[in-house]
Amino acid sequence: MEPFIYRRATDASQALALAAAPGAIFIAGGTELLNWLKEGIVRPGTLVDINGLQDLETIDTAPGRLRIGALARMSEVAAHPAVRRDYPAVAEALVRSASQQLRNMASMGGNLLQRTRCPYFRADAPVPCNKRAPGSGCAALRGADRHAAIFGWSDACVATHPSDVAVAFAALDAVVHVQGPQGAREVPFGDFYRLPGDRPQDDTTLRPGELIVAIEVPASAVAARSRYIKVRERASYEFALVSAAVGIDLDGATIRNARIALGGVAPKPWRLRVAERALAGRPFTVAAVRAALESGAFSEARPRRANGFKVDLAKRAVVRAAVGLGAGA
Ligand SMILES: Cc1cc2nc3c(=O)[nH]c(=O)nc-3n(C[C@H](O)[C@H](O)[C@H](O)COP(=O)(O)OP(=O)(O)OC[C@H]3O[C@@H](n4cnc5c(N)ncnc54)[C@H](O)[C@@H]3O)c2cc1C
Repeated sequence: MEPFIYRRATDASQALALAAAPGAIFIAGGTELLNWLKEGIVRPGTLVDINGLQDLETIDTAPGRLRIGALARMSEVAAHPAVRRDYPAVAEALVRSASQQLRNMASMGGNLLQRTRCPYFRADAPVPCNKRAPGSGCAALRGADRHAAIFGWSDACVATHPSDVAVAFAALDAVVHVQGPQGAREVPFGDFYRLPGDRPQDDTTLRPGELIVAIEVPASAVAARSRYIKVRERASYEFALVSAAVGIDLDGATIRNARIALGGVAPKPWRLRVAERALAGRPFTVAAVRAALESGAFSEARPRRANGFKVDLAKRAVVRAAVGLGAGA
């Protein structure tokens, strides 16, 4: 680990001013960042500790929306009664993330900015990884690709995004509120992450020095009837192989509106809009869900050598979520 300057901010404007220093980076829970420091993934000039920004700790469940401060801890959001009642996919995604100890430390803003778990990105000894060392190549292209993306990858990077709750946020059309040197702005969740293209080192559309202040999720019938299914290689304390966040708004037994997002399959949470459209107006049955998943929803999937199984696994995860939401036989 290399030396760095440590500064603690007490409000957002001070945090933004400190973040203007060369090589400055924010630290919240530190559960990701400390690993990066030890592994040499980042070498910051200054660490700007934002844990003194108490305004960012609030979880506001006013009617019409859920506003989660960027410093709210994952465990607090997961246990919040209104989140569990009105946004169950958000609570379920959080409960299935990491461990209780990590969730107690880890912030919601930091969760969105965690980086890929691709073994080549996290390798102890340097290996080609364009995300970690731009221009060095991608070892996964010829190496182990069981965990790689099936959607949205490029010849520069095949890594997946690891956050669970980001998948629920994508399905529920969340908005990320940020403040930066140029002022405040709102980023629709679909625009928050970027695909790798030839610039895989940039995971998000955040601009230099920008601070996430909150994540807002609109209240809706879809959010209230939502589920998160996570499939992983061991039952606990493991990242998703594949996951699905599904929300359904019903008019009697007919689907008025459906939302489906997948995790573990792409460099960002992946919305299945084709399947969502195919479900509108259909009876809420397993057969209708299966038919929607076969209606071109996976036509953009490009499985690699060892991860073709993710196509079927993702479909099964969506069906399981639908069954949990009451889909008929
Ligand atoms: C062993 C282990 C298992 C895990 N398992 C899972 C899992 O199953 N599912 C899952 O979803 N996650 C998992 N995680 C990831 C975990 O959720 C993240 O480490 C955590 O959420 C990061 O939050 P933090 O507050 O600790 O961020 P930090 O480590 O403090 O920061 C992470 C990044 O976010 C930036 N940052 C933090 N807050 C802000 C802000 N408000 N504005 C701008 N930038 C900010 C920092 O500069 C840094 O770049 C796991 C982590 C570990 C270590």
